[in-house]
Amino acid sequence: MNLSRELCAARDAADALSGRRDLFDLPDGVIYLDGNSLGALPRAVGPRLEAAVSQAWGKDLISSWNVHGWIDLPSRVGARLARLIGARPHEVIASDSTSVNLFKLAAAAVAMRKERSVIVTESGNFPTDLYILQGLRDLLGDDLISLRVVEPEQVAGALDEDVAAVVLTHVHYKSGRLHDMAAITQRAHEVGALALWDLSHSAGAVELDLNGCGVDLAVGCGYKYLNGGPGAPAFLYVPERHHDDLRSPLTGWMGHARPFEFVDTYEPGGGVLRGLCGTPPILGLTALDAALDVFDGVAMADLRAKSQALGDLFLHLVAGRCADSGLGLACPTDSALRGSQVSLSHPDGYAIVQALIERGVTGDFRAPDILRFGFAPLYVRFVDIWDAVEILRDVMASETWREPRFNLKAAVT
Ligand SMILES: *Cc1c(COP(=O)(O)O)cnc(C)c1O
Repeated sequence: MNLSRELCAARDAADALSGRRDLFDLPDGVIYLDGNSLGALPRAVGPRLEAAVSQAWGKDLISSWNVHGWIDLPSRVGARLARLIGARPHEVIASDSTSVNLFKLAAAAVAMRKERSVIVTESGNFPTDLYILQGLRDLLGDDLISLRVVEPEQVAGALDEDVAAVVLTHVHYKSGRLHDMAAITQRAHEVGALALWDLSHSAGAVELDLNGCGVDLAVGCGYKYLNGGPGAPAFLYVPERHHDDLRSPLTGWMGHARPFEFVDTYEPGGGVLRGLCGTPPILGLTALDAALDVFDGVAMADLRAKSQALGDLFLHLVAGRCADSGLGLACPTDSALRGSQVSLSHPDGYAIVQALIERGVTGDFRAPDILRFGFAPLYVRFVDIWDAVEILRDVMASETWREPRFNLKAAVT
């Protein structure tokens, strides 16, 4: 393959998704490869938020719960998300954070398998997932539940008849490695356990078929590939077959069967709505709802194909151009085993990422040595990959990253 920038431009010209980029408000001079951490701003968000603030909140005030349908927003946004993850519309709601939703569903899973005492997860899972499970264990007491934390390759082998649930992140946040959702879910079912998946790094970038895989429960993040904005509401998925059995431990009034009857005793709401807790974050949901417009009419298979092509191109160019730079490979080379990011490693990864950011290439760093580059297929172009790797090559060859200003750590990496 004799690649050139012109060839990359030709691929963009032939790309059926290329027009989607105009739906985003991207800053000039920035190649944004961090949509896996904070998705870019869709143009529709600002005006919709503005209207929600000035008209709905400002003028219509409390009547907006009915007039503007605020009360149904968690379900409406959930129904739109359902298409992106292979679920049915009544199986998904958007509200709360991923961490909170994970707590709700992990606790519910344990309650659905009362006679069992183990939760299986993997070491190196995203910290909040591990911390939430540790908190749940501490709350229930370790005579009731223990955590079996194993290496990623050992997950299937760790599933036995003591296991209530396996809780895994589908795409690993550091390595981008993709778990075999269908196989692990099936293995969990063979031993009578439930499978709870965290889709934070999958939703909006990887084709998913939760119904087809028989997934029992799932949560995911609204501000990564779904572009809902910082701290956007997350979502949770409960398939219809579990609707009657699910008990959220956070029995807030919005998850009640009849919240506006104000009765003293909790009674779970119908279907996935019982996964709600308190008053939904309406402004955040409004932003996420507007952000989801960019997916309208997009086939997730096309999105996935482009994501894989972008990652393959990046790795191919890095292998050819940064061969002696000391950068290691920290993600699967086979795009079928990778989410929508690539990861490189270098002991001075932090400084290299800072030097890249100054040159207009935004990726991020994950301790201790990982450089992450995320490819949101709706707005990242093939020429962006070409340019980003050219700049990476230059930063590595010139060693500008050694300058002291690139080595000062900020609070958020
Ligand atoms: C980003 C991410 C989260 C985010 O959780 P918050 O509650 O929104 O902070 C959770 N889990 C995984 C795997 C993530 O990648």
